[in-house]
Amino acid sequence: MDSKEVVKKLLNKEMKLYEVDKHFPADVACDIRREFIQEYSKTQLPNMGNYTLNMENASKRNIENSIGVLQLPIGVAGPMKINGEFCKREVFVPLATSEGALVASINRGASTITASGGVNVRVISDIMTRAPVIKTSSSVESLKLKQWFEDNFDRLKEIAESTTSHGKLLKIDPILIAGSYVYPRFVYSTGDSMGMNMVTIATEKILDEMTKETSAQHIALSGNVCVDKKAAAINMVEGRGKTVVADVLIPKDIVSKKLKTTAEAIVEVNIAKNLIGSAVAGSTAYNAHYANMVAAIFLATGQDAAHAVEGSLGITTAENRDGDLYFSVNLPDLPVATVGGGTSLETANEGLNILGVAGFGKAKEFAEIVASTVLAGELSLIGALAAGHLARAHQQLGRG
Ligand code: NAP
Repeated sequence: MDSKEVVKKLLNKEMKLYEVDKHFPADVACDIRREFIQEYSKTQLPNMGNYTLNMENASKRNIENSIGVLQLPIGVAGPMKINGEFCKREVFVPLATSEGALVASINRGASTITASGGVNVRVISDIMTRAPVIKTSSSVESLKLKQWFEDNFDRLKEIAESTTSHGKLLKIDPILIAGSYVYPRFVYSTGDSMGMNMVTIATEKILDEMTKETSAQHIALSGNVCVDKKAAAINMVEGRGKTVVADVLIPKDIVSKKLKTTAEAIVEVNIAKNLIGSAVAGSTAYNAHYANMVAAIFLATGQDAAHAVEGSLGITTAENRDGDLYFSVNLPDLPVATVGGGTSLETANEGLNILGVAGFGKAKEFAEIVASTVLAGELSLIGALAAGHLARAHQQLGRG
C-alpha cells in the first residue's frame, strides 16, 4: 500500500487514522495523516510539517494521530539572580508565548530583582496526589473503609511502591466522605517526574487490593479531589506538585528607577486588586497573572500545559518598609518535572538545558526558577499598574 492509497482509504473512511501507524514508520504516518487532513480540510499545512523533532520517539509517549508540530516563538528574560536552596546563580529563562510584551515585562522584573541582590526562593513541599472515588453502601460503611485505609497504610504503601522505583506513598490524607462515596487522597513523592502517570498506576494497584479485601467498589480512578488540572481550594491549602515561596526586598531608589513608582503605590494596588478584588470576584487566585509566566515556561520546557491552571493559584503580598518594597509570591500548586512527560521532546529539552535543569535531581531547582520568574512577571505588572496610578495621582495633584 503506498501513501496515496492510504490517503484515499482515509478519505473513504475505510481506514482509521491510528491504523496508519501499523503500516509506516511514525514520521511517514504523520506525513500521510497531514496529507489526508490537507485534502479533507481543503487547505495547505506547510508549516506543521516542517519540523526536526523525532516523531518516532514522540509517537511512543507524547502524541497520537500526529500530523506535525506546533511552533511558538521562544524569548528569554534575564539575567535573573536567584538565591534558592538549589538554584544559586543567574539564569536566562526561556519563555514560549504569542503574547507580545510579556517577555519584555518579565525581563524588567528580572532586572529589578537582580539589581536588588536577587530573589530568595524555597520549595516547602513536594507531592503529587491521586484521589479516586469509591462507593460503599452507607455512611457507616464509608467510615469503616476510611478506617481500613488507615489500618492498612504500611501494607498499601508497599503495594503502591512495588509499581515504581522513584515514587513513594507518603500518606492517605484527607479521606473525605459524602454519604456512600469515599475520596481518599493518596499523597506521593515522585522524584524528578511530575508524577501523574506514576501515581495513577500505583493507586490503581491499591484499589485492586481494596476490591479483593472489602465490598467497596471504585467508581473512578480520579474522583476530582486530586485535584488535577482544575483550580481548587484543597490544592491551595494542602499543596500539590511543588509548593514554592519567593520574595525580594527592593530598595526605594530601585523601585523608583526601574519600576517608576513607589512601594506605597505598589502596596495599594496589590491590596485593592490582588487581595480585595480577588475576594470580591470569589477567585481562588489572589494574584495578577501567575498563569502568564507559568504557561510560557511550561510551553518552553515540555511541562503539561494544562497544569497552568494549577500554577495560576497563589497569593501575592507587598509591604512598604520605610520606602523599600518587600514583595512575595506564594505558589501552592506547581506541578513541574525535569524527567518524563514532554520534557524529552527536543525543544523542551533544550529549554531545560538553557536553565541547566534537564534530567535527574533537578526538579526542585527548576521549581525555584519557575517561582522566581513568576515573581519577576508579577512585580513588573503590579509595578506598571502602580506607575499608572501614581502618574494619574500626580496629574490630579498638578491640576488641583
Ligand atoms: P512519566 O513520563 O511516566 O515519567 C515518570 C517515569 O520516569 C517513571 O516511569 C519513572 O520510573 C521514570 N523516572 C526515571 N528517573 C526518574 C526520576 N529521577 N524521578 C522520577 N521518575 C523517574 O510520567 P509522569 O511524570 O508519571 O506523568 C507525567 C505525564 O502524565 C505527562 O505526560 C502528563 O501529561 C500525564 N498526565 C497523566 C494523567 C493521568 O491521569 N494519568 C493526568 C495528567 C497528566 P519509575 O516509576 O520506575 O520510578
